Amino acid sequence: MPTSTLPPEAETYRQEVRAFLDEHAPGGRYPPDFGRRLARAGMVAPHWPRPWGLDASPLQQLAIDEVLRERRAPRPVNPIGIGWAGPTLLVAGTDEQHRRFLPGMLDGSEIWCQLFSEPGAGSDLASLTTRAERDGAEWVVTGQKIWTTGAHVARYGILLARTDPDAEAHHGISYFVLDMQSRGITIRPIRQMDGSADFNEVFLDGVRIPASCLVGDEHDGWRLARVTLGNERVSLSGEGALWGMGPTANDLVEIVRQHGGTTDPVLRQRIAALYAEAAVLVLIRMRTLAARLRGLEPGPEASVRKALADEHGQRVMALAVELAGPYGMLADRGPFGSATTTWAQGYLFSPALTIGGGTAEVQRNIIAERVLALPRDA
Ligand SMILES: Cc1cc2nc3c(=O)[nH]c(=O)nc-3n(C[C@H](O)[C@H](O)[C@H](O)COP(=O)(O)OP(=O)(O)OC[C@H]3O[C@@H](n4cnc5c(N)ncnc54)[C@H](O)[C@@H]3O)c2cc1C
Repeated sequence: MPTSTLPPEAETYRQEVRAFLDEHAPGGRYPPDFGRRLARAGMVAPHWPRPWGLDASPLQQLAIDEVLRERRAPRPVNPIGIGWAGPTLLVAGTDEQHRRFLPGMLDGSEIWCQLFSEPGAGSDLASLTTRAERDGAEWVVTGQKIWTTGAHVARYGILLARTDPDAEAHHGISYFVLDMQSRGITIRPIRQMDGSADFNEVFLDGVRIPASCLVGDEHDGWRLARVTLGNERVSLSGEGALWGMGPTANDLVEIVRQHGGTTDPVLRQRIAALYAEAAVLVLIRMRTLAARLRGLEPGPEASVRKALADEHGQRVMALAVELAGPYGMLADRGPFGSATTTWAQGYLFSPALTIGGGTAEVQRNIIAERVLALPRDA
């Protein structure tokens, strides 16, 4: 994979990370507050500007990631916060919002969720009807959100609400940070076919949000939502398949190799094709990172990557359960050791990839209009 063939300049960055780990996790023992230390060192989101990140180049990011993986360093898990809400706050949040929200987001002590989708507004998000009305120094929010991943564990949420019902759909929306402990919020879990309940219905009934939690300008929420969704497409379509939950194509190659390889020509072709796809996805990701470095926000290329990565993830998962044989039907026993116990669940989850963060069809519409300059979707 290209990540293991970084140019020689990467070594300086690697050494910095190794020195940090030797100091903060001597002998590979990670202290309970390691996530906080990593966040303070700017290594949780190295591409963010200082002091939150390191203004890191793509190469530095890849080198940091490589060493943290190699040493199995535990990293804060807060994908919606770090992946999507944070970048939007960096674009449009006030200094006070940065100081209040970014440290807890980066060290994982405050989990974030995203309150965008509604029962009547998914792909056509701009038709959302949750209302926010100004009342003195506060906003009062009433409406319903759905598919809110992690609402039940989140401390904060990014929320889109309509602030000008008379304006054209895209122009009357504002973007807020919602304290999930506010009064008037009811959260109901939604059970998924893999047995878990990661997302929820969220009812907002006269919830009060301080004016200081408006992000950017009033009625400018749609522009910021696009920043969030652009980052969502980048981060959901991360390097591994399945939003980081399942095996990667590389893992499958390694497992087949460890089990004596295969002479089955069809299986060999499938594995090779997935391996090649994964390599292409890494290269597209590096291109996106390089664009970021030049100060560009994620553009339509994020949709290209998401369209490819989601279907790649589904193919990887389908092959994984096939390799697992009868174990592919079991939720609690892995065919090839502990790392494979999640395969059955991952397979059941994999259809979600081409829905969440914008469906496969919607990505193709974006590519058609904004990359290929085809006529607009009717
Ligand atoms: C695992 C998972 C986690 C999620 N987490 C969150 C979350 O945390 N927060 C949140 O706000 N939302 C979340 N969502 C919701 C997700 O963003 C929506 O499901 C998605 O945007 C699609 O909207 P919808 O479900 O309303 O489907 P619809 O928009 O109703 O689409 C139904 C079908 O019509 C197709 N379609 C719609 N419009 C077009 C068009 N113009 N051209 C061609 N085809 C079209 C779609 O591709 C789809 O096949 C999550 C979804 C999943 C699966």
